[in-house]
Amino acid sequence: MLKNNLGYPRVGAHRELKKASEQYWAGKITRDDLFAAARQIRLQNWQTQVDAGIDLIPCNDFSFYDQVLDTSLMLGNIPERYTPVLTQNKANTEIDLYFAMARGYQKDGLDVTAMEMTKWFDTNYHYIVPEFVQNQQFKLFSEKVFDEFILAKQHTGNTPKPVLIGPVTYLLLGKEKQPGFDKIDLIKKLVPVYIEVLKRLASYGAIWVQLDEPFLALDLTDKEKAAYAYAYMEINKQCPGIKVLLTTYFESLHENTELAVTLPVSAIHVDLVRAPGQLYKVLTVLPDSLSLSLGVVDGRNIWKNDYVRSLTHIKKAIAVLGTDRVMIAPSCSLLHTPFDLDLETAIIPEIKNWMAFAKQKLNEINELAQIIGGNNELLQENLRALTSRNLSKLIHKQDIKQRVAAITDADAQRESGFITRQKIQQQRFKLPLYPTTTIGSFPQTDDIRSLRARLKKGELTEKQYDAEIEKATIDAIRWQEEIGLDVLVHGEFERNDMVEYFGERLDGFLFTKNGWVQSYGSRCVKPPVIYGDVSRPADMTVRWSSFAQQNTDRLMKGMLTGPVTILQWSFVRDDQPRSETTNQIALAIRNEVVALEAAGIKVIQIDEPAIREGLPLRKKDWQNYLNWAVKAFRISASGVRDETQIHTHMCYSEFNDIIGNIADMDADVITIETSRSQMELLAAFADFKYPNEIGPGVYDIHSPRVPTVDEMVSLLEKASELLPAGNLWVNPDCGLKTRKWPETQVALINMVAAAKHLRQLV
Ligand code: GLN
Ligand code: ZN
Repeated sequence: MLKNNLGYPRVGAHRELKKASEQYWAGKITRDDLFAAARQIRLQNWQTQVDAGIDLIPCNDFSFYDQVLDTSLMLGNIPERYTPVLTQNKANTEIDLYFAMARGYQKDGLDVTAMEMTKWFDTNYHYIVPEFVQNQQFKLFSEKVFDEFILAKQHTGNTPKPVLIGPVTYLLLGKEKQPGFDKIDLIKKLVPVYIEVLKRLASYGAIWVQLDEPFLALDLTDKEKAAYAYAYMEINKQCPGIKVLLTTYFESLHENTELAVTLPVSAIHVDLVRAPGQLYKVLTVLPDSLSLSLGVVDGRNIWKNDYVRSLTHIKKAIAVLGTDRVMIAPSCSLLHTPFDLDLETAIIPEIKNWMAFAKQKLNEINELAQIIGGNNELLQENLRALTSRNLSKLIHKQDIKQRVAAITDADAQRESGFITRQKIQQQRFKLPLYPTTTIGSFPQTDDIRSLRARLKKGELTEKQYDAEIEKATIDAIRWQEEIGLDVLVHGEFERNDMVEYFGERLDGFLFTKNGWVQSYGSRCVKPPVIYGDVSRPADMTVRWSSFAQQNTDRLMKGMLTGPVTILQWSFVRDDQPRSETTNQIALAIRNEVVALEAAGIKVIQIDEPAIREGLPLRKKDWQNYLNWAVKAFRISASGVRDETQIHTHMCYSEFNDIIGNIADMDADVITIETSRSQMELLAAFADFKYPNEIGPGVYDIHSPRVPTVDEMVSLLEKASELLPAGNLWVNPDCGLKTRKWPETQVALINMVAAAKHLRQLV
């Protein structure tokens, strides 16, 4: 039984790659320094896997920025606008070209933007989207995969397994940049380069090659299915020496099972954490020529493996296939888990004993193999840890479970319908037409951030810190009054992050010291861990919101993060459904909303930027998810009287397929991102006859560029053609925390002028 790993975190135990890359970009270290840091990480990763007894050790899973971008470079798929990066500056090499594609390039008289980035399936990892043109050519360009294989071979004393994005998945991840062709038709041009790569790898001694094809576990068209059949037939014909490990994850093969098992490969990997139900069918149809890699150790979470459950799968597979054709593996690459639990010194031991990070997960694969070999002690030890978790008083709070069980439909229902509420709120607030507001945060300057750092180090007392935050808040309020905004915000100066801030104030959450996970390039996030039943021991935001409201006669908007977003951006419990955890969070937020209302806050925003990214990968599962996600939002928002105005905010611009569900959230006001799409998105709201009030973002906050009054007027005119003017709000696309004050000030002054201009036209 081979112990198979699919990929390992690559930023380094202490984010060494992040630090080295950022120094290289800043010109502070040389290319050789950067390569040395990267080499060190690879060698350490391989050694860790050798030590854990892994048989199939991945290589080329390392990446300086992103594995999809690596693939684009390997295939010579380099958009033309980047060629001058090498020609204009002779000192530049492949790595500079690579970073230019990832991050843009503003030097040597060039100004080239970065390639687009988007989320990797339903993870919080972002990849660089390949671009395809009509006359697309592919040609082996980057030699990285060979270099890594040779290096790994020297250092593992073992034949490493190169990892590549499979050809069909590569095409499906990309985008046509010109009209008139279908990217999937490029498969015939693409496969020859893969064959060339595989042949070269074979010549260096590679045996197994892992080709990642997660799209095989998603909804496929007939044409896409045909591309799979074609690609793997060709590869098999021309690379007889290579054993292909076809890797799927994040979902079930489902109706694609027959297609997958008839592809002429040597092994298939399936994700039995996300989709345990597929095992039975796969075992029934798997031909004798194929081995099966069982993804039993969760690559997406931080909990200790349930050995009893994993062993059930493994034993079932062995019974049908025999040990020789079974591999044990993590469900997907371990890229999505933090590095090493041993580095966490502050987690209470009882809870730490329930957890496993990447390094511990390697060990779990090893232990599962040992238990199959007869080591019963390891199984007993695992059982003890899991039993302690099942019964722990730290997790299980009966009153919270009962409160969730007692939720009724009425809890998810405001007192009256929107039309009634709107009338009541209009009479109460007397806002002008096209009311102006912002999304919540104002610039988090270095000064503000250093306050928090100094508080942490003990250089500031709580009192001194609060006094400084009060000052920043009051300044922001005075300034908003001065420029004439209608609904003010307090600025969120007291918050580190929109999820962390709440996690730190809710029971059932813990925070790691070093639990970093790559989000994109050198950016890493440290998601909170939801380990137990969630409750709200005390007010979370009332102090700052009421302080702000007391300092102005205008409306001050209270600012909260919604239950689905808190869930989505955390490591969540795997011992109960996500919906259950979300409901617990929803009840906690509901209490906070009610407390804000009681404290005199009349407008409350509940941000839900992550509702869309929580959508399941298979369309058939969407409705179920949307039902509980929308209901959780409604539970959080429905404890208040009709006269209290609930806002929500989402920062993305693809709503077309879920617009009905968004309407179902029944927020009095929704603010969304629209400026970059020139209000195109609003058409979906108009077609749907979206009934509630809506603030389409009139300027892009992702860049320091200041929009003119005219630009914003014309966006608002467009919006007014599509939706009733009486329902429109005027606001930026998102929060302003990443911006600097100078551009923010001018932009908002212009925004208020644009709103005033529109009022005069009516
Ligand atoms: N209220 C948050 C802010 O303004 C919203 C951020 C977000 O939508 N991502 O920062
Ligand atoms: Zn946003």
